[in-house]
This record gives sequence, structure tokens and C-alpha cells, in this order.
Amino acid sequence: MALVATHRQVVYRLLPQTRSSWRRLERVLEDQRQLYNAALEERIDCYRKTGKGRTYFDQCKALTECRRDLPEMAECPVAIQRGTLKRLDGAFQYFFRRVKNGETPGFPRFKGKAFFNSISVVSGVKVRDDTLHVPSFGALRIRRKGGNPYPDGRPVSAVLKRELGMWTAIVCFAVEIEEPASNGHVLGLDRNGGQVADSDGALHEMPDMKRLDAQAQRLQRRLSRRQKGSRRREKAKRHLAKVRRKIANRRKNWHHHVSRKLATEAGTVAVEDLNVKGMTRSAKGTAEEPGTMVAQKSGTNRVILNTGWTALKGMLEYKAANVIVVPAMNTSRKCHECGAVEAANRRTRDDFGCLACGHAAHADLNAAKNIRDRPLERLAATDETSGTGASARRAAFALATSDP
Ligand SMILES: [Zn+2]
Repeated sequence: MALVATHRQVVYRLLPQTRSSWRRLERVLEDQRQLYNAALEERIDCYRKTGKGRTYFDQCKALTECRRDLPEMAECPVAIQRGTLKRLDGAFQYFFRRVKNGETPGFPRFKGKAFFNSISVVSGVKVRDDTLHVPSFGALRIRRKGGNPYPDGRPVSAVLKRELGMWTAIVCFAVEIEEPASNGHVLGLDRNGGQVADSDGALHEMPDMKRLDAQAQRLQRRLSRRQKGSRRREKAKRHLAKVRRKIANRRKNWHHHVSRKLATEAGTVAVEDLNVKGMTRSAKGTAEEPGTMVAQKSGTNRVILNTGWTALKGMLEYKAANVIVVPAMNTSRKCHECGAVEAANRRTRDDFGCLACGHAAHADLNAAKNIRDRPLERLAATDETSGTGASARRAAFALATSDP
């Protein structure tokens, strides 16, 4: 079994420490916010004066000088200060990448207190039993249900994050894991509102979040009634954020379960190329050209976004040996048995009945089978001149199930 070197993140909860160490965390966070803003200002100034940008390494060098000259700067661990400069560098790289792609990104911003919630540690972290050691900061008590899943991993870096008054530590480990093997089994996935259907005939339903969604809606209404800047509004805001976090966690948990299950069953997973952005585009239209079926479309949008396709696909990409993206055209209209393509084949949302051959099935399962067979079809079509259908199919199958 081949081992591959990669990185994995593990999220720990920071346990209550002494009051002075909490205060120290808060102070370091505020110092880092100021450092971030100062470094951003320096980059802007430098560009105005010289027309040249500053790199992460330039700023690290300047940091070393600052630490020598200002004793209060030297009190904070350098691994944390470098982490802050690296984050700023990341914000600029993201900005320039988007400019290059012809998008219109926002320029990196100065951060207010409400927008700066994490401390990055770039090197020297150690994890031992239930403690996290940050260089020249000291030990922090941590806990995770189930412990560390990578006991042999080497901790590389960490992020301490404050969220809704709760601190977590996200530790990045350098690990060696077994490369996911392709077992020759191909699974097609149809991702439809609220559930995932696989071509082996299983439906994976998303946990029911109606109650939580309704609660979030109610809290949203309450929030909008309260006066801006008031204490009660802040309270409502926190409450809403907690419910939203619960929804997000439950969804993420489901993604992990489903993607692990599918990746274990099949080495190769075929998914539709769904343009989530296009699918969820607002139906409102413009003032000159108002859209139709606005309410219905926005309802569908909510379901599509709720399921979080992109996140699920991302997890499959690192858990399964192969992920193949196939064009989505006609996968839900085509009969898997006879190949007839007809919009009327899909009788209702769930019910598929072929007008040509009479094949009846769950609409999503029929679509999942079409998605599974699509990579084979496409390769068979390009290979038509050479060899018979069967050999093209075999070649396509070998390609679909081989290692990347
Ligand atoms: Zn048919």
C-alpha cells in the first residue's frame, strides 16, 4: 500500500484556562490586529512612494528590526507575528489572482475588532496529550472528542480562533496516509435537492433541518426589529449566529459521513458538473426585465445551497481515489434502459417513467446511473473508429478506474 505525504487539519476546543491566560490570548489577538493593519498600511505606503510592492519576506525582515528596537514588540512570539504577516500576504495573493482572472475583487481591508478573530502560529507548535505548546507562549489545554486521529502526525502550524466567545485550535499535521486505492467500482452520483442518490440504488438523505431553519428565520426577524447599536440587538445577533453554526455543523457532519461511505464503496466517483452559481442565480431579474416564478426559484435556490454540493465534492476529492466530473446535460431526462431522451420522461420530481420502453424508476437513481455511464460513453464515442464497442468500453473503464 502506497503512503503519500500530505497535511490534515484537526480542530480542538481550547479548554478553560486561568483567567490571566485568557486575557493574554485576547491581548495577543488585539496586538495581531494592529500589526496586520500596520503591515497593510506599510504595503500601501510603499507602493505609493516607490511603485513597488512589499513581499512577505520584506515584511518579515522589517519585523526582525522592529523586534530589536521595540521591547514590547519582542514580547509577542515571533511565530505568531509572522503568521499575521503571512495572512496579509495571503489576502494580497488572493486579490492579485482574482485581478489576473479578470474579476473585480475588493482590496485587502483594514480590520476592525469584529473582523479579526484568529491568531496564526506558523511554526514550532507541539501537541502532547491534552496540551498544545506554542513557542514562547506556553501550554494551552485542548480537547477533542475521539482524541487526535493522527497520533503519528507531525504538528506544523496552528490557528487559534475565537468564535462566538469560544476558542478553538486548528492544528495542521504533516501526515503519511494510505493512498486511496481504486477498486474498479464506479459510482455515479445525482445530487438533488436535499439528497444524494448513488447508482447502486441508495439514497442518502440530508438530516432534517426544518426546525432549525425555522428557528433561524424567527431569530432573523427578531434581529431586524431591534434597534441598531442596542444591547438587545447584539444579544439577538449572538443567538442567531449560534443557531446558524449548529446548522452548518450538522451539514458538515453529514457531508463527512456520506463522502466517507461513498469513497469506501467505490474507488471512482462520477459527479455532475453542476454550475451552482448559475443554477442559483436570482430569478428576480432586472427592473427592465423582471424574472418569472421568482418565489419558486428562490425556494429551489435555498434547497440547492442548503445541501452544499461544492463542500461535498471537495471532501470526495480527497477521500476517493478518483472523482470524475461529467457534463450534466440530459442526465435527468434520459432513460437509462433504452437511452431515449424526453423531457416528459420525468413525470414528477421523484418519478421517472420512460415513454419509449416503459422503464420506471426513482428519478434520481435513473439519473445517477446515467452519470455513472457518461465517462464510458464519452470515451466510447471518441474511440468509435478503432475497435468494437466492447473494447472501447473496456478501455474507457480502465481509464476511469486507474490511478490518477
Ligand atoms: Zn426507456
